[in-house]
Amino acid sequence: MEEDRLLFHEMGLDDRLLKALADLGWSQPTLIQEKAIPLALEGKDLLARARTGSGKTAAYAVPLIQRILTSKQTVREQAIRALVLVPTKELGQQVQTMIRQLTAYCGRDVRVADISGKADLSAQKPILMEKPDIVVSTPSRVQAHINAQNLQLHTSLEMLVIDEADLLFSFGFEADLKSLLCHFPKIYQAFLMSATLNDDVQALKDLVLHNPVTLKLQGSQLPDSSQLQQYSVQCEEEDKFLLIYTLLKLGLVRGKSLIFVGDVDRCYRLKLFLEQFSIPACVLNSELPVHSRCHIIAQFNQGFYNYIIATDEQGLENPVASSQKTQEKGKKKKNSGKSGKGKDKEYGVSRGIDFHNVSNVINFDFPTSVESYIHRVGRTARADNPGTALSFISHTELPMLTEVESALSGDTECVLKPYGFKMEEIEGFRYRCRDAMRSVTKQAMKEARLKEIKQELLNSEKLKTYFEDNPRDLQLLRHDKDLHPAVIKPHMKNVPEYLIPATLKSLVNPLKQRRKRKFKTGGMMLSSFKSTFRGKNPLKSFRYTRKKRGEKKAGKT
Ligand code: AMP
Repeated sequence: MEEDRLLFHEMGLDDRLLKALADLGWSQPTLIQEKAIPLALEGKDLLARARTGSGKTAAYAVPLIQRILTSKQTVREQAIRALVLVPTKELGQQVQTMIRQLTAYCGRDVRVADISGKADLSAQKPILMEKPDIVVSTPSRVQAHINAQNLQLHTSLEMLVIDEADLLFSFGFEADLKSLLCHFPKIYQAFLMSATLNDDVQALKDLVLHNPVTLKLQGSQLPDSSQLQQYSVQCEEEDKFLLIYTLLKLGLVRGKSLIFVGDVDRCYRLKLFLEQFSIPACVLNSELPVHSRCHIIAQFNQGFYNYIIATDEQGLENPVASSQKTQEKGKKKKNSGKSGKGKDKEYGVSRGIDFHNVSNVINFDFPTSVESYIHRVGRTARADNPGTALSFISHTELPMLTEVESALSGDTECVLKPYGFKMEEIEGFRYRCRDAMRSVTKQAMKEARLKEIKQELLNSEKLKTYFEDNPRDLQLLRHDKDLHPAVIKPHMKNVPEYLIPATLKSLVNPLKQRRKRKFKTGGMMLSSFKSTFRGKNPLKSFRYTRKKRGEKKAGKT
């Protein structure tokens, strides 16, 4: 523990808020919280650059709640006092959840409503008529409600938060945001939270902030190598499938994993491929209805699924938002929001979303921008947790790897190391992988995609009605079921003993239980087995790391 860090109870916070913080198990504020909360409570405008996973939601949510509690001691009249603007519906729901947790003991005094969901405007009108103290929304939703005269902010708004500010512009909210400003009062306190302070954010700063304090706290955009291990492995298309099969089927990847692919089709290609081997995985992309997406994330966080195959289409379609190279060239291209039929432009999983306890991020397809890499990989190693990122790199993806490496090279502690896996050792699996790949035809993918969307639309309807009332029933609703557009051969489920490389035999069946115990914290088996993996024996270093972490933890408490 850092000796002189200000603690929550030294910040003059309401007891109910302190109790909720204690329930969350947060023994001390994160760096951004330590700096931002006192300044915000003094009434300062803030521009904060904070690394994803740094605790920035609470950095603005705590002062928001505290100021509302204080203000309600004098003026009890119910009013919308704070507006939190977010770029995606997923983030909207996450922010609402966090605020609900923080207001667990003062929920009557501080009410929050997330209106970023897709419900009809008229269905949300009664919520707004009750004037929740905090409204969370995307800019376009707020604008729509203002236009429909369901929402008035020009007299009551006291605080404005713009979360993931850099993304708001890239999601095409620029016009919405600018026209919203005319509906705000002249004076309000504003917080701008952003992972990067690019030109868009500077422009926004001039529009909404008055004499702000700028907090540039993060040293690097990603945690250092003692917390986040980053690897890359060169492999072409077929090898990507071979490697993912081996990693998952032989249990070389442990714990919850997010697997990122390049587009929606690839989601289904990989899901169907894994399905051939009875490896269940959820798919997460912008075509799925928002209720399903949020439910998948909620269930993943509760430990229902081990693998999510996700796209980060916004990041992919708008690589320019951060690509330094392109920025230098001044060729900025804004996402016009025309991200394709059936796709939700307010979708985003690689940015801002707090997947819990993700042990591994696997870039099955490498992202197409530095920013996208940082945000994908930022889904693991959150708060104080360790994490591993592994990127599969085909020859066409090499230039982007170089770009990512040079962008991260400022951080000597934050580099991609080669994942020393001997592909030739797993040649024996190639035949069955090819067989499985052949079964995943274009037609099968098309059918799977349609079937999934149909299924999820039904799920989404159920979720819409039951989410609040019957949370238990919802546990029965799963999103990782087989889609079965292709014939599944039962024998593919098992891994024949003779195919397992001698060096990996100790990893599979016979010693499974023992192995499980060793890896129960999650992670990725690296060059633990000298002959299959190149390099020194990192099982040692894995144990060492754990020991070191244990010591660190012990030292902390
Ligand atoms: P955020 O950057 O707001 O998405 O938060 C990232 C993660 O850090 C979330 O899972 C939070 O629950 C967690 N977190 C936020 N503040 C703290 C804290 N003071 N102590 C421990 N965990 C925290």
